[in-house]
Amino acid sequence: MTERLYYHDSLRLDFDARVVDHARFEGRNAVVLDRTAFYPESGGQMADRGRLATAPVLDVQVDGGDRDAPAGDRERIVHVLEGKLPEIGTVVIGEVDRARRRVHMALHTAQHMLSRALTDVARTQTVSSRLGETTCTVDVDAAELDERSLARAEDLVNALVDDDLEVRAWFPDAGELARLPLRKAPTVDGAVRLVRIGDFDLTPCGGTHCTRTSQVGSLHVTGVERYKGGTRISFVAGRRARDRLAAESQVLGAMARELTCAPEDVPGALEKLRRQLQESREAAGKLQARLAELEAGRLEAEQGSRELIVASVEGAGPELLRALASRLVRPDRAVLLAGERSEGMALLAARGAASSVDCGALVRRLVEAAGGRGGGRPERAEGKLPPDAAFAELVSRALSASDG
Ligand SMILES: [Zn+2]
Repeated sequence: MTERLYYHDSLRLDFDARVVDHARFEGRNAVVLDRTAFYPESGGQMADRGRLATAPVLDVQVDGGDRDAPAGDRERIVHVLEGKLPEIGTVVIGEVDRARRRVHMALHTAQHMLSRALTDVARTQTVSSRLGETTCTVDVDAAELDERSLARAEDLVNALVDDDLEVRAWFPDAGELARLPLRKAPTVDGAVRLVRIGDFDLTPCGGTHCTRTSQVGSLHVTGVERYKGGTRISFVAGRRARDRLAAESQVLGAMARELTCAPEDVPGALEKLRRQLQESREAAGKLQARLAELEAGRLEAEQGSRELIVASVEGAGPELLRALASRLVRPDRAVLLAGERSEGMALLAARGAASSVDCGALVRRLVEAAGGRGGGRPERAEGKLPPDAAFAELVSRALSASDG
């Protein structure tokens, strides 16, 4: 059994302790101390990192304990170390990674506050919560949670962050525990540790929390989705909230510069661009239809008597080729069309019901000869040739091969 120093002081990050045992955890070497300030992964909160003697602490876990249960004090805590283990009996200096711990403290305290605020504002209970490496979530039992309630809960938490309330963690005796109005029932058998945030929230918890709500910095809800019949809310707080908002602000700033507008005008500028794009597409569609009309007329005049019309159209993409084909194909006629573009040559072959041209075979011969790709049915086939393909030459070879 390891004494947990963080129970009484979440800001005590430097400590000394005696090595009482060596252990293995998931195939890695670990030590057990008589006491520790390192928080082991449990109750949805990640483990601390840092150094023990000269060794980096890679992981901290409760040995043999239920990792989902709030931390009890019946099991021993194992510190997975890199390199050689300090000898049993020696006293070692431990140093918890401060930045990581502070983030966990802010996230965990914010989670308590958000859970409470959601109960007060929307009458929903927290079913579970998780403070992950990148994502933190609270799952509540409400199937529907409207945006206004969520925004009100977020505002409430941030107002209480500004109020700088005291956060207290302690072990009450049985009599005191029985009198207190807890947000949720304790899930541990042994001594129950409570966390009180001003007069706002009171709940059992074994994690590491801030000592004042102002240390949370701010809470920022980042997402909401339906989850297992309830609702999952994602959030950030503390340094992680600042980092995220700064990163998003940078992206927004870059977009505003690109659109030459103020950040708040980006949505309007994007809407305008979307409209212009739509108009341009419609205009391009009309021009394409007109172009297909003209080009089909020209090819009809040039090759109208042939059973197979072959043409290469500069700049034409697959869409223009399809529009052309639909205008040129007759029951006893087939077309083989190519569109020359810098990124490659689009191919389309199509035939009428009475034509005997095998479009699939024709396109396959062309792409095989030129190193492209494509194919299709005897009635219709599409493909793509490299940009430098000599279309006329390839066609004459393919056609003579099919004749032979
Ligand atoms: Zn907690």
